[in-house]
Amino acid sequence: MILLGLLFIKFVFSYEIDVNTFSNYLDVQNRHIHFEWLINMEKKLINATANYQFHVIGPSIYKISLDIKDLTIYTIYMDNGVVLHYSVDYPYADSDQGQRLNIKLKREYKRDEFVILTIKYSIDSRSESISFMNISQTQTKSMPYLFTQCQDAYCRSLAPLQDTPAIKQTYSATIIYKNIEATDVFMSADETQEQFTILNHPSIDPNFTWKYKYFVQKTPIPSYLIAIVAGNLQKVPTSNGGRTFLISEPDKINEYKEELKDMEQFLQAIEQYIGPYTWGTYTIVILPPSFPYGGMENPLLTFASPTIMTKTGSGLYVAIHEMAHSWFGNTITCINWANMWINEGFTVFLERKASLFYYKVLDDIKLNAIIGNATMYQDILDLGPDSKLASLHPDTTGINPQLSISEIPYEKGFQFLTFLEGIIGAEDFKYMLRSYLNTYKYKSIDQQEFQHFILRYLYEQHVDDYSTKRYRILEYWDTWIYQPGLPPIILDFSTNKLIETQQYTTSYIIADGRQPDNYAQYFNFYPSQKKVFLEELFKKAQNNQLKLTIIEQIDKDLQLTNDNDYELKFRWFKAILTAGDRTRFNLIANFLGEVGTCELSCPVYKALNELDHDFAVQTFKTHQEFYHQIIRNSIKSILEKNIQLIK
Ligand SMILES: [Zn+2]
Repeated sequence: MILLGLLFIKFVFSYEIDVNTFSNYLDVQNRHIHFEWLINMEKKLINATANYQFHVIGPSIYKISLDIKDLTIYTIYMDNGVVLHYSVDYPYADSDQGQRLNIKLKREYKRDEFVILTIKYSIDSRSESISFMNISQTQTKSMPYLFTQCQDAYCRSLAPLQDTPAIKQTYSATIIYKNIEATDVFMSADETQEQFTILNHPSIDPNFTWKYKYFVQKTPIPSYLIAIVAGNLQKVPTSNGGRTFLISEPDKINEYKEELKDMEQFLQAIEQYIGPYTWGTYTIVILPPSFPYGGMENPLLTFASPTIMTKTGSGLYVAIHEMAHSWFGNTITCINWANMWINEGFTVFLERKASLFYYKVLDDIKLNAIIGNATMYQDILDLGPDSKLASLHPDTTGINPQLSISEIPYEKGFQFLTFLEGIIGAEDFKYMLRSYLNTYKYKSIDQQEFQHFILRYLYEQHVDDYSTKRYRILEYWDTWIYQPGLPPIILDFSTNKLIETQQYTTSYIIADGRQPDNYAQYFNFYPSQKKVFLEELFKKAQNNQLKLTIIEQIDKDLQLTNDNDYELKFRWFKAILTAGDRTRFNLIANFLGEVGTCELSCPVYKALNELDHDFAVQTFKTHQEFYHQIIRNSIKSILEKNIQLIK
């Protein structure tokens, strides 16, 4: 009966659609795309062609619609040279999601037919996905620099695409660039010796040489994982294992290599829990400081902010997180941005499992979960506890999905999986996840399919107490997914280390501006414990208990203003600004000019804005050219919250 029931559910069930693409991807799906990009860094221009292999899925089609944003389209033609008519329209014109490119086909195409066509277009500095950096904005100040950031829905400003995580395609590329503008170019794909036919040969110039590089990504990936980086770049192995590599500008590469020397061990720690890494090699690029996130999991080419290089190893959890995406996010992908926790919640879960294998400190994992929960709680408050964006299934209809990004898919997703693990049992849960990966590899799914899978798996494995477990899994499922705000079940991450840290914080408050006897305890704290201490200080500041004399004593004892660890520094600045400290404004302004990651700079801007709006605006105006466009908008919205538009 149950099996029949499950078959019935499977039969009537259909996947959620993606409301943030304008493409007709339910009728026709791209299977492969070949790019040819001629890069002119000085002019901030890429002359591009993209060749597509569309597969008709629906009964028949007369047109192909693609997502585009701020691209210039020149011509579209079939593989036999026949030129096609096209038009551009603006669904959700005010929603900042770009435009729809409608390509009219010459005839009706029926199910299972292929449509091979080519688009000639150009990408310029309007593109939100691509950062063209001047020589002065780089570390070595010898060549310009270029990098992309496509997640969530920005790849439509890199190429006309079915810009949805629901569609996966393979890709290949020919990249043509000047030897005076970049020493090397890398993509989220393997380099290949195969030389693809060149459609547009660049004109010869005696002042420089054109260089050619060829790439192939044989595993189907969603558009948001397409990535490229170019500049004065060097690539080195990080260990003798032959699998892990590092790319950065040459001047700091040895320093970064030293810090990342255990990457192979990280990979092995993840494999120990979830099974083999299937993508071949793993490479991390340390980008310039304007990179807008801690990390981005582009396959074969993780991008990371230099702020994770703390010299103490405390930022390496970001590297483990991005590696863990190779399984969750890159192998199994969320079907739309409302299901982002299918990527992020699972990745945080795997990141913490692997961290436990590697570091073997359970307290550290628990403290990280506590910090994550605190950040999520703040995001829930900022979004509004009843907001349609404050759940594990945010409604992104009619908005740029970027607006739905918060800590919720990460931490609530992690907590939901921890809750399910508690019901199913740790060993069974691990094998369930391995089977889940095997079942859905290279596919995109939604949360409902995950639920069906778990129940089917437990039934087929004849687990003990199946009916009780099934009942408990389903009992709160929809509440976990759809109810905005904090999780319906509070999980216990308590540890003596938390109590110890809270007592340590209180000792500073009680000492009231003098040095407490136990002050040196801080130097033996885990990295996560130091963060908890600073979050506790922030709470004290919110309760008006963090006096300026106490701040001075803490800084004298612990040297927090001068700490190299940006994750500690931003928490320190957030706390002291909340306490009303105006004595470090210039140092804080300098910090905000060095850190392009919103995760680190946005909370400081928020606290600064509340204390002194004018100074916050002035600081933003000084540094706005440094920030990535995505982050510029986030900071603007913080500063605009209670004040007029900033020009
Ligand atoms: Zn992630």
